[in-house]
Amino acid sequence: MSVLNKKTIEDLDVAGKKVLVRCDFNVKMENGVITSDKRVVASLPTIKYLLQHNAKVILCSHLGRPKGQVNPEFSMAPVAECLSKYLGIEVKLAKDVVGESAHELAASLKDGEAMLLENVRFEPGETKNDPELSKQFASLAELYVNDAFGSAHRAHSSTAGVADYLPSAVGYLMQKEIDVMGKALENPVRPFVAILGGAKVSDKIGVIENLIEKCDTLIIGGGMAYTFMRAMGYSVGTSICEEDKLDLAKELMAKAKEKKVNFLLPVDNVIGREYKPDTPFMQIFSDAIPDGWMGLDIGSTTQELFSKSIIGAGTVIWNGPMGVSEWENFAGGTIAVAKAVADSGAISIIGGGDSAAAVKKLGFAEKMTHISTGGGASLEFLEGKELPGIACIDNK
Ligand code: ADP
Ligand code: MG
Repeated sequence: MSVLNKKTIEDLDVAGKKVLVRCDFNVKMENGVITSDKRVVASLPTIKYLLQHNAKVILCSHLGRPKGQVNPEFSMAPVAECLSKYLGIEVKLAKDVVGESAHELAASLKDGEAMLLENVRFEPGETKNDPELSKQFASLAELYVNDAFGSAHRAHSSTAGVADYLPSAVGYLMQKEIDVMGKALENPVRPFVAILGGAKVSDKIGVIENLIEKCDTLIIGGGMAYTFMRAMGYSVGTSICEEDKLDLAKELMAKAKEKKVNFLLPVDNVIGREYKPDTPFMQIFSDAIPDGWMGLDIGSTTQELFSKSIIGAGTVIWNGPMGVSEWENFAGGTIAVAKAVADSGAISIIGGGDSAAAVKKLGFAEKMTHISTGGGASLEFLEGKELPGIACIDNK
């Protein structure tokens, strides 16, 4: 079933209706103060659309991990304040999630007004996707909108269960994630280049297996490359290498050959003495890594090789840095690849928490088509898994 067929808020008739909106307001907080309100800001287009179309908007989200217990430390109060500031209207906070206060406030909402429920994870049924809680959420509203992509891989009451009892649609944030990543996976503009890196093969097996079926070129860098090199018979010194994944690496390389996927591994590397930012380093070809040294980045010949394949791409999906990009001496490969992706003119998609952080930190964020907001959710999406928070939404 295609994910591209889901109803969006624009398919709903929201005027005069109570609309329950699951957002991702899991903001960064320190001592009760929001230190980054990016997630609130990102949610505004969906909320504003609903308000402008005279809906009665009931917002909800989780915040932190209160583990099914009411805990003032995880109250949504700062979020309600932040929303009020950005929307220019008072967003009242219910004292509970689905209790008396929530019902009273919801009943008193006028068209074009918004309220916020308390932290959905105050309810023990939330993470268990308890049908009783889902029904209680549904009883607050007439329509359900899910705009929390970062939680879409979890089947919880407010992210999935509630959709069993209400007509539903996705919000703008969710829609963009689905549109860009869904199209890339279902019907990519070719050539389709997948770039995978990061620490371990074992974290990315599902992603490699799914993308190998779809892409024209598969580029492997980062720590995971050393397991593949080892499988090819090279010695990799003290590089991060998963000995128990050598057979899998061989199978994946055979699969790439069978599918006629252009499979690229680093031909040279920046190696270091120790896993430390200021360790002595040098550049060396992949068949000559000495004992007692570890690969911490791709080398300059590899940068050129990878960049050449990326420049002509129609679609690029990138997950996982090319080296230990947190450290200046080992960030060169990730910077070069980011530059190639940015200049490629391809539809470019960055998935994965560390990859997104690297691209932002290195200053390439504006040049990418899409940086997925969900770490775990985007990985599962790239693995080709059905995400409960998307699957539950009505089709057009
Ligand atoms: P993402 O979060 O984007 O999915 P990962 O979590 O898989 O990415 O990988 C990111 C981590 O991989 C970073 O912390 C980076 O330092 C590490 N890494 C990349 N290359 C190497 C390497 N050659 N050796 C050890 N760690 C590496
Ligand atoms: Mg990570």
